[in-house]
Amino acid sequence: MKKTVLTLAAAVLLSGCTPAEEEPAKETEQTAPAAEKEAGPVIDASYFNELKEVDGVQVIQNPENPLVLVNKEFALPSDYTPPDLIRPNVQYSFGDQDIEKSYMRRDAAAALETLFKGAEEDGQYLFAVSGYRSYDRQKEILAAGAASSSEQEALKSIAPPGMSEHQSGLAMDISSESNGFELNQSFEETEEGQWLKDHAHEYGFILRYPKGKEDITQYIYEPWHFRYVGRDAATLIYENDWTLEDYFKEMKPAE
Ligand SMILES: [Zn+2]
Repeated sequence: MKKTVLTLAAAVLLSGCTPAEEEPAKETEQTAPAAEKEAGPVIDASYFNELKEVDGVQVIQNPENPLVLVNKEFALPSDYTPPDLIRPNVQYSFGDQDIEKSYMRRDAAAALETLFKGAEEDGQYLFAVSGYRSYDRQKEILAAGAASSSEQEALKSIAPPGMSEHQSGLAMDISSESNGFELNQSFEETEEGQWLKDHAHEYGFILRYPKGKEDITQYIYEPWHFRYVGRDAATLIYENDWTLEDYFKEMKPAE
């Protein structure tokens, strides 16, 4: 975005140097306000995290924000449960069990149903594996991991409670029968994994932890983890090859 601003500014300056009598048409074509509008994408300020430091941790104060940025820097409050969790009507790797991890927030659930239908129309059969996860459940998972090695070791692959995007109710881990319903790197080589990578944004989802962006996301490449952000943000992120972290660096809050 910064590059675009500079280019436009340079174009305006160059045109300004051209004698008016030589190229009068160009002078009248100058539309600086429109150019400025194009240069900086703006979103409502409510989509940005509101933060408060609690015991040295940056805790998100507006966790219901559908674009909430949850990572190892910004945590969800320990008592946050999304207000509108429902069970999307899709195929699950664990069948019909009505359990915590089958849930997502309402809008995300509706989008997931559309995503799975779209995949099916293209001959790809997706399976939901793990969605919503409570703060307490994340705490248990980390404790179990720490018990079999050390907490330090466990933290390399398991998010601390509050710092898992699954607590937002906006993420779903997805796999396929061809991948044995597993969540692992080989999912990227399956037809279903490829389809998701290419089409998820059309349904409002992003591949949240891309390959080569580990330094930014602080997570290993997870070809199975998809996050709902809505179609506008998902398309922008996909087309610019951004992470959600990049998105919030590039966007400006509306004043
Ligand atoms: Zn996940």
